[in-house]
Amino acid sequence: MVRTPRGFPAAYRAFREAGWTSLGADPDYGGQGLPKSVGLLVEEMICSANMAFGMYPGLSHGAYMAISKHGTPEQKALYLPKLTSGEWSGTMCLTEPHCGTDLGLIRSKAVPAEDGSFRITGNKIFISAGEHDLADNIIHLVLAKLPDAPPGTRGISLFVVPKYLPTEDGRPGPRNAVTCTGLEHKMGIKASATCAMAFDEAKGWLVGRPHKGLSAMFTMMNEARLGVGVQGLGIAEIAYQNAVAYARDRIQGRGLQGTQAPDKAADPILVHPDVRRMLLTMRAMTEGCRALSAFAALEHDVSLRHPDAAVRQQADDFVQLMTPIIKAIFTDAGWDAAVMGMQVWGGHGYIRDNGMEQFARDARITQIYEGTNGIQALDLVGRKLGAHGGRYLRSFFHPALAFIEAQQDDAAMEEFILPLAKAFGRLQQVTAEVAQRGLRDPFEAGAAATDYLRLFGLTAMAYAWARMAAVALGKDDAFYKAKLATARFFMQRILPETSSLAAKVLAGGESLRAFEDAAFWGRRCPPLETVLDQSAGTKRKAFAPARHIAIGGEGEVVGGDACPLCRHPLEQLAAALARQWTVDVEAGEPAGIAQEEFRPGGGIGHDEELLRPVRHLEHRMARCVPRRGDGADARHDLGAPGRLPQLRLIGAEAPADIGEGAALVLRHAAGIALIGPESPFHRRHREARHSGRPPCCPWWSGR
Ligand SMILES: Cc1cc2nc3c(=O)[nH]c(=O)nc-3n(C[C@H](O)[C@H](O)[C@H](O)COP(=O)(O)OP(=O)(O)OC[C@H]3O[C@@H](n4cnc5c(N)ncnc54)[C@H](O)[C@@H]3O)c2cc1C
Repeated sequence: MVRTPRGFPAAYRAFREAGWTSLGADPDYGGQGLPKSVGLLVEEMICSANMAFGMYPGLSHGAYMAISKHGTPEQKALYLPKLTSGEWSGTMCLTEPHCGTDLGLIRSKAVPAEDGSFRITGNKIFISAGEHDLADNIIHLVLAKLPDAPPGTRGISLFVVPKYLPTEDGRPGPRNAVTCTGLEHKMGIKASATCAMAFDEAKGWLVGRPHKGLSAMFTMMNEARLGVGVQGLGIAEIAYQNAVAYARDRIQGRGLQGTQAPDKAADPILVHPDVRRMLLTMRAMTEGCRALSAFAALEHDVSLRHPDAAVRQQADDFVQLMTPIIKAIFTDAGWDAAVMGMQVWGGHGYIRDNGMEQFARDARITQIYEGTNGIQALDLVGRKLGAHGGRYLRSFFHPALAFIEAQQDDAAMEEFILPLAKAFGRLQQVTAEVAQRGLRDPFEAGAAATDYLRLFGLTAMAYAWARMAAVALGKDDAFYKAKLATARFFMQRILPETSSLAAKVLAGGESLRAFEDAAFWGRRCPPLETVLDQSAGTKRKAFAPARHIAIGGEGEVVGGDACPLCRHPLEQLAAALARQWTVDVEAGEPAGIAQEEFRPGGGIGHDEELLRPVRHLEHRMARCVPRRGDGADARHDLGAPGRLPQLRLIGAEAPADIGEGAALVLRHAAGIALIGPESPFHRRHREARHSGRPPCCPWWSGR
């Protein structure tokens, strides 16, 4: 059982009982049928309040969407009401140890059973909400391959795999063969359980058509991408609110335009131009993103409900086009705002107790998961630009151009329309260039993608800001005045970035292509011993990545590849790492992470069973001091590692975590002395090795 932090189960119960899990769901399944435009704004507030908490209902809504679009009537009747009420929660299980972006490499298998169901076997990692104590059942949507699957992404199917197999009357029944084998220790969103999941001939049912799982999963992923964009927005907003509150209170120095608070020993930092620059950047990006998200959400609603098919189509084109842009630019804005918020707080922003650094830690993942922002950029240039002869593009270009033309004679709008028109012209020119070059040479499209996406995103935001300015002009209310002032700031101080972005894109990709691969690692690293010696006095040390260590009959390291960076033989590296761990553990400090890939050598002897399925070995030093601050770590019962290094195994055939069983082998292999108190898990392994009995770890008993 994975326990969420104290207070989460009660908060989740209150959340679902108040109906927040059912906002956008179909009334036929107990939902409120509210439009996406309402749902997305609520999601933003949830993310501002507690992004990690918001992930549990967020994932469930994604599962709801996938089943409602691709499930059979029976699947809908069984799962949708439970997901709507929040009694059951959902996950999306795509990622495997060896494949994240490239899902064509998936190894999980689905074998048809006689009763029409399937037996799913495989390991998934990084599964958000994979196991927790909030809901009565967890509905996993799992990508796997059927025996006759064509290779690559064309051979992936989607399955629904419940944690508890539902009974005839729709209640959670017997436990299915799906287990959480470990939890990730992460930089942020610590209260969101990120699980390694093992499916061991688990019973599942096909969702949608065979081999068409990826497109079915895209229903979920497209929703999720908008949702992740909104996570970035939520973090940006809360970081902004905290930064403004601090800037009003904190007094330091006097304003450059003269004393502003003569009754105080110094002026509030809000008066300083650089602090104002940071606050206004945060505000202009946050409000610009919110306008764009509301815009996209409205179009999403139009695409589903408008009576005219042509209007629905155009609205859907706009959502398709904007989805990668929103995901990437909002999450970049979330990270930037979180970092700027810390900056406004000065040194106090870096101190965990004050909470600002948590926004940065939480925001960082949003740029990575749901397809990294680099992949979003490739989606934009590779799929969206050319789709249907440029039809998606027209869903933005036509209305934006019409707006510019309609407003260009209005003198009051000039300060907004001129910069928008310039950025728009740049975007048009660069789009044509990227499309042409990309057709000739895909490397060029890839080289342009990230800068192009940002250019597009800022221009789209400028369009949103100009529309807001058109509404705000002439109104006396403080709200509208602030809108106009923020729009001005955006046009003058943020939008000009599009000019350098255009220059970068037009420079082409030759400088990326021409750089010799070998030159990336340049001079050989200094000998490993020196690296470690140099760092010996410090608590946190760099590590050198290692690969392919072979283990001999007695568990000793007998050889392997050289370190790709320093070319040192890896047995030395392993031994040196061992010394490094010793220091770190004794210092009682969080240590770095070393990654190694183990390939078992011949004659492995008594460790053979342990090593056979191992493909990747990730060493992870457990923190030796309890975590403080948000205190929001999800816990699991595989045994706290205490002061021992915790090692996790990730492999195609191996369950994702056999923890200290692997630690034993590595310590033995590298001659590492045991350090600190022995954990019960470790002791079981040691005793079992001497007695010849297999240790009672979940992995061992499974094989
Ligand atoms: C906290 C957390 C929660 C997560 N939750 C889930 C979840 O619920 N379900 C789930 O299935 N997964 C989940 N993930 C996995 C996440 O979606 C992946 O980590 C992400 O998609 C990237 O895959 P990867 O880590 O394997 O990186 P890789 O695919 O190895 O990519 C590494 C780098 O290479 C770049 N790259 C890779 N391929 C290309 C290419 N073709 N062109 C250009 N650049 C490329 C990437 O952009 C990235 O910068 C989660 C991850 C984390 C950390």
